[in-house]
Amino acid sequence: MEETILIKIGEIALKGLNRRTFEDVLVKNIRRRIYPLGEFTIQNVQSTISVTPKSDDIDMAETAERIGKIFGIAAYSRACIAKKDMDDIKIKTLEYLKDELQNAKTFKVEAKRSDKKFPLKSPEICSEIGGVILENFPHLTVDVHNPEKTVTIEVRDFCSFIRGEAIRGAGGIPVGTGGKAAILISGGIDSPVAAYMMAKRGIELTAIHFASPPYTSERAEQKVRSLLEIVSAYSGNMNMFVVPFTKIQETIEKNCPEELFTIIMRRIMMKISEIIAVKNGCSALITGESLGQVASQTIQAIACTDEASTMPVFRPLIGMDKDEIVTISRKIGTFETSILPFEDCCTVFTPKHPRTRPVLKFVKQAEESFDFASLIEEAIDNVRIVKIHSHNAFKEALPI
Ligand code: ATP
Ligand code: MG
Repeated sequence: MEETILIKIGEIALKGLNRRTFEDVLVKNIRRRIYPLGEFTIQNVQSTISVTPKSDDIDMAETAERIGKIFGIAAYSRACIAKKDMDDIKIKTLEYLKDELQNAKTFKVEAKRSDKKFPLKSPEICSEIGGVILENFPHLTVDVHNPEKTVTIEVRDFCSFIRGEAIRGAGGIPVGTGGKAAILISGGIDSPVAAYMMAKRGIELTAIHFASPPYTSERAEQKVRSLLEIVSAYSGNMNMFVVPFTKIQETIEKNCPEELFTIIMRRIMMKISEIIAVKNGCSALITGESLGQVASQTIQAIACTDEASTMPVFRPLIGMDKDEIVTISRKIGTFETSILPFEDCCTVFTPKHPRTRPVLKFVKQAEESFDFASLIEEAIDNVRIVKIHSHNAFKEALPI
């Protein structure tokens, strides 16, 4: 039986004249995300995108799983393609939905007839298909208000579709329609969630990670890479820029007051990130900060951090509780990796009593105790690029 996946477009339907551009980006994103699975025909007709495999050996379960993570999709469903002929629709409905009908107790049929020339009207289609289902599955009863199973028949211009319930899509707007931004990614719980949330609003991502070998290990970097691969199933492929941070941290430790160590380190992170972001076409930075979570996330500390760069800094988690962040992290699949016990550069040289209300004037004075410019330049010259491929998110994860 010929199968397809029907996709209902989400919020982009509201975008007036931009709608066509948004839809084109969505189709491109779908194509990119599923191409390793085989060849597909992708059509966009009457506000529904259909994704039909060109051969029957394509794994449709994995195709659907990948589509379920693409932003800009409100709902999707696997469907069987039938002719615009009631006999063909009946035979295929019984065969295609056999297992689901077998396991249900109640059902109803819905029909959508966009081809108004089709000889039967929607209520007639429902009653004929309902009748044939009852004949073949005598244990079922019809329940139009609260059915366990809804069978939908869509009669379109060139064919009909038979399907069960639609599945809720990832929502949001297509990645790439909102510009590009750089996520400062650690191995923690928060920053992968922040990355996911901004990608959901259409932002294409670049990632920046600060590593401080030998204080931080190769496995800690591998963990960050795995986290980004999970995020990339939603956001698409990206580059991760790994910045060597050891010398800078050691220099701050030697030259600046201990209680300002973290805030100075964070300001230098922002300065370096801005330079990398600009070079790579990004117009904003993203962090996983949440107000009041730690000493460096008070209003005063955030004000000092913000002053270090001129770019807008998006902090999508700013008003969220940790348990709300954890819920999203579990939903998107990053939580189990985030809690693996590896060190982050932020946990190296942590002061015992960090200043929770740093004053910018004193922070700047402390920074003047050393000329960081050449160290920043050196760090940028030695940045390593790691390619993050969304396809790895669907493979068996490598041990970290
Ligand atoms: P996370 O769970 O994202 O690590 P956190 O609550 O542990 O966040 P911090 O360690 O203070 O908080 O980090 C705040 C933010 O700074 C992170 O969300 C992230 O955006 C950025 N950040 C922290 N460590 C790094 C790093 N090694 N490389 C890049 N960005 C980092
Ligand atoms: Mg952290």
